[in-house]
Amino acid sequence: MRTPLVVGNWKMYKTPSQTEALIDALKPLVEGAACDIAVVPPFVCLERAAAAIQGSRIGLAAQNVYWEAEGAYTGEIAVDMLKEVGVTMVIVGHSERRLHFGETDETVNRRAKAVLAGGLTPIIAVGEALQQREAGQTRHVVASQVRGGLDGLSGEQVAGLGIAYEPVWAIGTGRVATPEQAQEVHALIREIIREKFGGWVADRVNVIYGGSVKPDNASGLIGQTDVDGALVGGASLKARDFAAICMSAG
Ligand code: PEP
Repeated sequence: MRTPLVVGNWKMYKTPSQTEALIDALKPLVEGAACDIAVVPPFVCLERAAAAIQGSRIGLAAQNVYWEAEGAYTGEIAVDMLKEVGVTMVIVGHSERRLHFGETDETVNRRAKAVLAGGLTPIIAVGEALQQREAGQTRHVVASQVRGGLDGLSGEQVAGLGIAYEPVWAIGTGRVATPEQAQEVHALIREIIREKFGGWVADRVNVIYGGSVKPDNASGLIGQTDVDGALVGGASLKARDFAAICMSAG
């Protein structure tokens, strides 16, 4: 029922010309993939990326967005600006945004609502820090991030969005969650959604895993019942590695 989704978050890597080169290298490698695919370049690369993905099965996402439609918010980007350059998905609440830029569940929720109001798809990122896992707080932390991020949304809205479970201790560290650890938290997320919005929503929402996903661990993770794909950082910067992850998700 759910089409797997693999998203490549390029973070603050790649210039516009490097963006075009990476997409050109990726396109032929993912032609036969059976999953949905999106790349997430920096804002200034989006327009170049939108042109480069033409004629391919690669979609375009943004790394963040502001919730106001326009105004005196120096340095921010609005949903309509993303739409006009061809973005269809937006990551909100990435742990690097929470850690370095003061994102809270409330601001993540405001961003998600703005993305939905603009007709785009949010991917809401959640995940516990290492100390929280070690203190046995994973379920509590993730549950409250999920509840906070989805606050005030309708079942129909939730059914169409993505949630990325990204344990902070696994992001960019090479330390990946085991398939069992990922499955446990993904099942919890789906259960929360089932309780709050009903089974038909829980069955449709895409819950993807992120945190040191590489070609050699992707199929074990994505093969779990409640893991619907991957949010990939480092490995998405190499066309062959990202393509291998996409091919194993189909
Ligand atoms: C990410 O940036 O969301 C991420 C999961 O990074 P990495 O794959 O490098 O751990």
